[in-house]
Amino acid sequence: MILKLCYYNNPILRKKAEKITEITAEIKQLAEDMIETMDVSNGVGLAAPQVGKSIAMFVMREDNYDEKGELVLGDAKVFINPKLSNPSKTTNFLNEGCLSLPGLHLEIERPDTVHIEAQGLDGKLFKGEVKDYFARVIMHENDHLNGVLFFDRLSKKEKNEILPILKKIKEKYAKLLD
Ligand code: ZN
Repeated sequence: MILKLCYYNNPILRKKAEKITEITAEIKQLAEDMIETMDVSNGVGLAAPQVGKSIAMFVMREDNYDEKGELVLGDAKVFINPKLSNPSKTTNFLNEGCLSLPGLHLEIERPDTVHIEAQGLDGKLFKGEVKDYFARVIMHENDHLNGVLFFDRLSKKEKNEILPILKKIKEKYAKLLD
């Protein structure tokens, strides 16, 4: 089922998401629906607060390229109760967008690598070091679980410059607030 997206300035996007204590059938269904919603929206990641659920889960899809250099859809991954640590001191800038802020694309600085520990849908804990684009998507989605939006990572001056765009997005989607 395709879920309704929550847009800036829906207050749910600013809340800290609750930890998931039990991976119920409902959570599994939500994860499946989030993957479907992410795919139809052409997103690379989607966090539960973006579909109106303030719980600590996000999904992402890692795109791969075949030997001919053509894009093949990677596996969808589910992250429950993620914990990020040990971000590298070295950073990189890359253009980011967000399904909750349609039309806004910004160069965001993020660490090159980060350590992640999370549960999968089977409840099993997995952990490891992630890097580059994969790390960036994970950090962006994890920010959503802490009520942080990607433009929060800009400098004050840069943030001031995008205020008119934020205002437009806010007005356009205000009527969709639940
Ligand atoms: Zn986002």
